[in-house]
Amino acid sequence: MLGSVRSATLTGVDGQPVTVEVHIAAGLPGYHVVGLPDAAVRESQARVRAALLSSELEWPKTRVTVNLAPGGVRKTGAGLELAVALGVMLAGDQLPAGALEGIGVLGELGLDGAVRPVPGALALVDALARSGAGVVVVPEANAIEAALIDGVEVRTARSLGELRACLKGEADWPSCPELPSESDDHPTDEDPLDLAEVRGLAHARRALEAAAAGAHHLLLTGPPGVGKTMLARRLATILPPLEAAEALEVTRIHSAAGRPLPSRRLIEQRPFRAPHHTASVPALVGGGSGRPRPGEVTLAHRGALFLDELGEFPPSALDALRQPLEDRAVHIARSGVSLHFPADFQLVACSNPCPCGRGGPTCACSEVQRARYRRRLSAPLLDRFDLRLPVRGPEPADGPGEASAGVRDRVAAAVERQRCRYADWPWRRNAHIPAGALARLVPLDGDAEEAWRWLIDDRGLTGRGAARVRRVARTLADLDGATVVSDAHVLSAALLRDDVP
Ligand SMILES: [Zn+2]
Repeated sequence: MLGSVRSATLTGVDGQPVTVEVHIAAGLPGYHVVGLPDAAVRESQARVRAALLSSELEWPKTRVTVNLAPGGVRKTGAGLELAVALGVMLAGDQLPAGALEGIGVLGELGLDGAVRPVPGALALVDALARSGAGVVVVPEANAIEAALIDGVEVRTARSLGELRACLKGEADWPSCPELPSESDDHPTDEDPLDLAEVRGLAHARRALEAAAAGAHHLLLTGPPGVGKTMLARRLATILPPLEAAEALEVTRIHSAAGRPLPSRRLIEQRPFRAPHHTASVPALVGGGSGRPRPGEVTLAHRGALFLDELGEFPPSALDALRQPLEDRAVHIARSGVSLHFPADFQLVACSNPCPCGRGGPTCACSEVQRARYRRRLSAPLLDRFDLRLPVRGPEPADGPGEASAGVRDRVAAAVERQRCRYADWPWRRNAHIPAGALARLVPLDGDAEEAWRWLIDDRGLTGRGAARVRRVARTLADLDGATVVSDAHVLSAALLRDDVP
């Protein structure tokens, strides 16, 4: 009277294998779930029972105990319902013993017995494959996503009744949905952004290109209306494509967060997230009440987080960004469970120089207002930006700028150079070179070394600032296709890190 079914649950953005054991024993009717279930799992009885009955299957008239193993993992959401239903069927001899040997199952249930999609299917199927399941049965709407995982056979389930017939060999498995063609994800009715729309701003454009190439954090400061936001938003058009492993990783995160996926399911473009300054701290960095959810910094993993009007964000939000910027991950510990959300993003921000926005000699702000504004953008946060520069508006003579396509090609070539250079190291991009490895990985020839010394000795560049200039200089050399960093690269890099007024 025991049925055992393999399934999986989400912990943060990762899947964990779960074994669902259903025991039917003599006694008064009752339903008990043990093994750290959350409320949704504890309350699964009504739906599982209704789904079985409306599929002309039986619900036991005695005592049902559901044990979720391993006991130390919290089980969340409704995605274990299909496994519970199949466990009841196995335990009650409504399925032959062994019918689910080597098979993992995922799915929520409708009252009518329909098998409904689950969030995080990619992470869940990955967990099942790693735990040795050779076959996974998933809801039809999750089938394309599940098929992204290698080494596991995907079968689809549409309803409990149909699934039972397939498992008993009385019916053929429904065929998996077809992969939509690539053109389906390129809507032609909206104009895509392009750098060609941005007039002038040569200096800031150079900084944007370097940011895209080296994954450097970028801060643009200037009065409203000079085009800094317009420029920053177009970073998304020049970012390099995700590598295959990164694409799977990003898709897994967005799937687990319940974000919509493209029609072919795999996210191939780097994320570009732009939360508003009214976003809460948990919305930005993750957490929140109930099941901890990934925040914007995690949705921006392997891509960019764009914060417009940086000075409008509350200090609590800006403070909360410091740890993920430092660790490239978010750690959340709550009620004995510690979660790890990846957060390797590049920060791109725009800011007014002061509350009135004009800055400089025409500024109408009081000294108190300016000081308060500067305090918001704390020095430790400002220090994170490899690239930070004031933006002045285009000159009347400035024409349209270079289109995104050409810039994107240079960026992609520069990224490829970095990928080759760092093949034996745990990082990929110039922005991530640890300070201790700079001398070895970014050697400077005579003139470059002299320029570098001049910046430190005569211009008073701090150790951290000097390290940032050196990383950016390496990126500028990569964009030029140069093997060696020159003095021009060093001086240009220093110019792209002007102090914020
Ligand atoms: Zn002002």
